[in-house]
Amino acid sequence: GAVSVSGNLKQVKLERESELRIEVSDEPLRIRVVNGTAEIFGSELPPEIWRTFPPRLKFAVFTWYGATIEMDGVTETDYTADETPMVSYINVHAILDARRHFAKASTSSDPESSQGPRVIVVGPTDSGKSTLTRMLLSWAAKQGWKPTFVDLDIGQGSITVPGSIAATPIEMPLDPVEGLPLDMALVYYYGHITPSKNVELYKTLVNELAQVLERQFTGNPESRAAGMVINTMGWIEGTGYKLLLHAIDTFKASVVLVLGQEKLFSMLKDVLRSKSNVDVVKLHKSGGVVARDREVREKSRDSRIQEYFYGLSKELSPYANTSSFNDLQVFRIGGGPQAPKSALPIGSVPVSNPLRVTPVNIDDHLLHSVLAVSYAEEPDLIVSSNVSGFVYVTEVDMLRKKITYLAPSPGTLPSKFLVAGSLSWLESR
Ligand code: ADP
Repeated sequence: GAVSVSGNLKQVKLERESELRIEVSDEPLRIRVVNGTAEIFGSELPPEIWRTFPPRLKFAVFTWYGATIEMDGVTETDYTADETPMVSYINVHAILDARRHFAKASTSSDPESSQGPRVIVVGPTDSGKSTLTRMLLSWAAKQGWKPTFVDLDIGQGSITVPGSIAATPIEMPLDPVEGLPLDMALVYYYGHITPSKNVELYKTLVNELAQVLERQFTGNPESRAAGMVINTMGWIEGTGYKLLLHAIDTFKASVVLVLGQEKLFSMLKDVLRSKSNVDVVKLHKSGGVVARDREVREKSRDSRIQEYFYGLSKELSPYANTSSFNDLQVFRIGGGPQAPKSALPIGSVPVSNPLRVTPVNIDDHLLHSVLAVSYAEEPDLIVSSNVSGFVYVTEVDMLRKKITYLAPSPGTLPSKFLVAGSLSWLESR
């Protein structure tokens, strides 16, 4: 597009079906649409109004019919691209939309036909899975549907902190800057950022989440017809591949969107061939997707945790609470100390139970950990219970036997059962 610059102000004219790809620098960037219409990952920008984008954010301003965009600030990079896969993405949306209408029109007593599309987005890391998920949800919400967003990516966490899997209904197009409202979210805490830490636990939590959603759908024709969009991890080899199949199966996915990998597409197409009610669709990865190295990933995980407690631009102040050790119980799932060999019948091999819930001593090693607050009514139910939220341990006083933690809301915790994993965070404020 044509560009004109004056001072820090830059105007870009975008032709139809093109996008302005931006990497924000270390300083925030302001943007507005001065002419035409434009959207960010499926969410339309209001005309004329300046919006501020936080440092390091990477995104594209796309226009279907042409637009003029104004930027105020210095970017890391910004360039216009007229080759995008957006038309193929919106075509997928159109098909999903038709299926939602079909589901809505059918008698809700028929569980098959009244079920809207269950879409799962798969592909390697940095293929644009989260971005496509966002677009499909935002386009659906714009048309009045309330699809359910399911996030199985424990590495990044689009709904809540990393290490969790979660689902939430989407009622409005997703804001390109703000996080999602968490009040309706159904969250399970896995506690680690790679599923290989405890594959059994990961699968168990996926099963739990799917079961609860299934029950919710039964009583709610509206969300049933809207269906769901499931974002997955970028781990697609070996166990990662098996976990994808497990997720497809568990959520009864009806549409599998494969981004940017021929091999994965043909493998899935092959194994799902026998299932006539599953469509496997290959889609191109956008040239705008920015690859993130390990360090960038770690940083973005940390900022997700920070955002949970402090808000996006540190506008929230979390509540610091102090409890005595006796008032809380911390547990860990899986691993843990095994029964000594001497306690086992002769000849048997000690096996660790990946789903065993073991109490954890409260001491210094919990400092800086992120703990989930379980809804479980007793420790035995921890694995099958969702969590109300998270706390961050800031101080462990061994002398006074008191633990201090940050929580996003005031008052006593909804439960005294906390779940530890390997997720920690060093506050760098
Ligand atoms: P994945 O979920 O497959 O790991 P993401 O959807 O998170 O990949 O995309 C990786 C990064 O690229 C994100 O920061 C995202 O905002 C950015 N991105 C995706 N599409 C575009 C685009 N068209 N232009 C600019 N940045 C993009």
